[in-house]
Amino acid sequence: MDNVVDRLIRYAKVHSESDHYGRPENPSTLCQFDMAKLLVEEMKGLGIADARYDEHCYAYGTIPATPGYENLPAVGLVAHMDTTPDMTGKDVKPQVIKYEGGDVVLNKELNIVMEAATFPELKKFVGQEIVFTDGTTLLGADDKAGVAIIMQAVEELLAEGTPHGKICLGFTPDEEIGRGVANFDVEGFGADFAFTLDGGEITDYEYETFNAAGAVVNVKGQSVHPGFAKDIMKNAILIAMEYASLLPPMETPGQTEGYEGFYHLQEFNGGVENVRMVYIIRDHSMERFTERKAMMQKAADTINRRYGEGTVVAEVKDQYYNMYEILKDHMDIVDLAEAAMKAAGIENPTHSPIRGGTDGCMLTYKGLLCPNLPAASHSPHGRFEYAPVESLKTGVKTVKNILSPELLKTVKVK
Ligand SMILES: [Zn+2]
Repeated sequence: MDNVVDRLIRYAKVHSESDHYGRPENPSTLCQFDMAKLLVEEMKGLGIADARYDEHCYAYGTIPATPGYENLPAVGLVAHMDTTPDMTGKDVKPQVIKYEGGDVVLNKELNIVMEAATFPELKKFVGQEIVFTDGTTLLGADDKAGVAIIMQAVEELLAEGTPHGKICLGFTPDEEIGRGVANFDVEGFGADFAFTLDGGEITDYEYETFNAAGAVVNVKGQSVHPGFAKDIMKNAILIAMEYASLLPPMETPGQTEGYEGFYHLQEFNGGVENVRMVYIIRDHSMERFTERKAMMQKAADTINRRYGEGTVVAEVKDQYYNMYEILKDHMDIVDLAEAAMKAAGIENPTHSPIRGGTDGCMLTYKGLLCPNLPAASHSPHGRFEYAPVESLKTGVKTVKNILSPELLKTVKVK
C-alpha cells in the first residue's frame, strides 16, 4: 500500500506548470499530460476500469457502487494537476523534515532559510514532520496534496473493502491560470455533487467565493500642441485619474479583508489621447456586487457630464459568482463535509470566505455542486510552500469519511 506522503512527493516531482501565455486551449502546457498519464496508470492499477484522460488533459475515473449501495449519491472528488507559473515547478526536490521550532534551513548550500518570524503559522506544527522544498522551487502541494489525498483515500477504501456509493474522480489542468473547468465534462463525470480538494489548513473548508467581474475602462482625450492647447486639450491621463478617484478609495485589496469587497485597478496604460484601465471588481454579496458594477458606470456618467459624452466608456463583464448563492439551498453537502472533518478528529472545523474563486464555484454554476475541502498546502505559490504530514493524513481520513455510507445517507441531493 502506498502512503499519502510518498504520493505527494511522487506527484510533486512531475513538472506540470500551467502557462498564461501557453497554448490557447486546455492544456496550456503539454507537460501537464505527464500528470494525467501517471494518474490514469495509477487509477488503472487500483482497478478503476474506465480511467482515462482526454485531449484537453482532463483525467477521469469512476468506481461503481458496492452492490446494494447504488442508492447512495455519487460523490465527485476533484483536484488540479497543474502548478502556478508564478514560481518554477521544475525539478522539485521535496524533503521531509521533523520541525522542532524556529527557522528551517531549506538549503544549506544556497543559504535558503525559512524564517519562523515571517511564517508564524509554522508554530502550529512544532514536533511534526513537514514536507518542504529545497528552497529552489515551489512544492506544488497546491494542488498535488489534493491529488494525493484523493488517490490515497480511494486506495485505502478499496483495499479495506469498505462499502461505498459511486465515486467519480476528476483531475483538471490549468486551474492556476483560471481555465480549470473550461472543458470539464460534467455530464460524463457522473457525480450528484462533488468536492474540490484545493484548500489550505486542514481544519478549514470553504463554500463561499467572491462574485467577480472585470472592467475595461477606455478614456478618450484630445491631444494638441501644449502651446496652443487652451480650451482644446483633453488629457486622457488626467481624466483617467479623475475617474479612478471617483471610486471609493478605501475599497481596494490592500485595505479590505474577510467579507469586504473591492475595486482593484490592475492596469493603467496610455497617453494624452487614450488611456486604458483594467479593473477587477469583487464582492461576496450579490447585492453589493451589483452596486459596485453600477458604480463603475456612474463614475463614467459623471466624467462624461464633465468632459462630453463618450469620453469614458466602461465595459464590465461578469467572471464568476459566489457558489454560496446556489449552495445555500443544499447545505446538507456542506454539513457532510463538516461531519466528515469532525469524524477525522478535527474538533472545530472552520469555514472562511474565499477572497477569490475556485474551480468548484465554476463547476457549481455548471450544475455540479462543489464546495472546497482543505488539502494542507501552506504558503503556496512560492519556495516556502509546505505540507504537514499529519494534516495530509487527516485529509485522507476526511475524504474516506465523506464516502462512508453512514454520513452519506444524510445527504438528500440524489
Ligand atoms: Zn490550487
